[in-house]
Amino acid sequence: MNYVTDRGEFSSLQILRAAYLEAPDWKQFWIDARTVTEQPWGKLLLHASDVGGCPRATMYRLLDTPEKPRGASSKANRAVMFWAGYHFHYLTYSALSWAGILACHEEPVEMDEGWSGTLDAEILVGDERILFDEKTVMPNALNYGFSLPKEKDCLQLATYGLTRSNVNGLIEYCDRAGSNTPKECRVDLGQYSAAVGSHMSLLEDCRSALPELPPVLEQAYVPHYARDGENMVLKTVAVETPWNCGYCDYHLTQEERRMNPATGRMKSYSWTQAESTCKPRNAPPLVVAELIGGVLKSCKSGHEAEVEKLTSTTPLSYYAPQEEDTP
Ligand code: SF4
Repeated sequence: MNYVTDRGEFSSLQILRAAYLEAPDWKQFWIDARTVTEQPWGKLLLHASDVGGCPRATMYRLLDTPEKPRGASSKANRAVMFWAGYHFHYLTYSALSWAGILACHEEPVEMDEGWSGTLDAEILVGDERILFDEKTVMPNALNYGFSLPKEKDCLQLATYGLTRSNVNGLIEYCDRAGSNTPKECRVDLGQYSAAVGSHMSLLEDCRSALPELPPVLEQAYVPHYARDGENMVLKTVAVETPWNCGYCDYHLTQEERRMNPATGRMKSYSWTQAESTCKPRNAPPLVVAELIGGVLKSCKSGHEAEVEKLTSTTPLSYYAPQEEDTP
């Protein structure tokens, strides 16, 4: 996207941030993170960021379920990671303010009772009003740039969009380690408004049914890529527990080596522990299709339609250099 501002024209937010940091007056525009008031995170309160996520995980949070235990290094990594993400947000707000296109930042959004949300920023470019969400991600998340923007992130932004008119959406995915070029994604908020409504109703129904929990996420068809030089190439499609289960704070996992029944080879899998409060289906991935050079070579009977749907909407290969900049 092109940003026409008081300070010139910038072809991306990253270029704008860099120009800000090189400007002699940059410090005068630095927005102090400490001036922001924390939003309530109360009992039974749902958040815009819950929309599109796993309803069961949200209900665990509402029930004050203890999160999975973390080791000392994992806790330390998370503390630094949140600090880095937080300050990257404020660097962006400061750069937008320096360029004269920041309308507001960290703005609490008025939502229905029992809901809360905070919009990262609103940007004004010419006559266009843009709701902006910054996502700071792990460096390798940008290797899967084709899968961005994530539907859940679009739904979160569209939830804020319901409270305003004539606005567009923009999500920027930034490597919090700073070594990859960020990815900016324009979002047509209107396209998601119906889905936002049904996700919000689902979460409200789940909250009314507590302490009964909604079911675990259904298994999903997942593409698996293998590196081929600077490209990642689609090799197999498997049916497995959705990837986000492994990252859920309520999913106690341990790694075990087991035999993959499809190949007969030993492989590491994450397994739900016996004492887990959540039990997604615990089978190893079932490989249902194999591709060679982008051509489907085999597909298990009964999975043809889903494999066809996935391979027609997922790239067969994509460019993914391992490191863009070597300092
Ligand atoms: S483990 Fe999966 S199904 Fe269970 S709460 Fe987490 S994301 Fe949801």
